[in-house]
Amino acid sequence: MWATLSRATGLSLRKSFVSIESRLFSVYGANLVSLSTDPAKRRQQLDALNLRRRTDPEWHRQELIRRERYRRRNAAKLSDYNSQYNKSFLPRYTSDPTVQLSQRLQNWVKLHVWVREELPWKTHRPVRYETPTPRRCEFCGITRRNGLHLVWQRIAQPDLYSCHRCYARQGTETCLPTGYEDIRGIKELAARKKQLEQPKSGSP
Ligand SMILES: [Zn+2]
Repeated sequence: MWATLSRATGLSLRKSFVSIESRLFSVYGANLVSLSTDPAKRRQQLDALNLRRRTDPEWHRQELIRRERYRRRNAAKLSDYNSQYNKSFLPRYTSDPTVQLSQRLQNWVKLHVWVREELPWKTHRPVRYETPTPRRCEFCGITRRNGLHLVWQRIAQPDLYSCHRCYARQGTETCLPTGYEDIRGIKELAARKKQLEQPKSGSP
């Protein structure tokens, strides 16, 4: 269902799914050995495991059993996550225009430089940081200690910022650039930009 919705809206709604999935499966097999991120150390750990498998058949047999148990447990967790997602987020997304606007905007400005830099934003312009940067939100007053990748900078007062959540709450009329208030998809957005930038017929 989510794939259909994503295709229809052009949004990647389940970003968090990837991180949850990778977290669930990041532990190596049933041994619950966290492999090192250092390639040399990782190689040593894998060699040690392979050696034990070859030289200790009983341990290897138990390992296969543990690994299967581990796989099943994680499959159950993923399935719980999926049903929770379908029960809570999807209905909210499909019925709440503010959530839809927030998701759409976030995807557009995070992915496309031209959306951030070339559109006639009204009150704030989007700023995307490579490294999360702490900025105090002028609306909710919160400064996220670990920083944010995306904030909205007030155009008239560049030392003021809004978090994405507060910015998107203001609704389409305020949030979307001038002339783009009815746009719902990135293709439409690009087409409108082209249309608005075309010289008016009759002009020199
Ligand atoms: Zn805020």
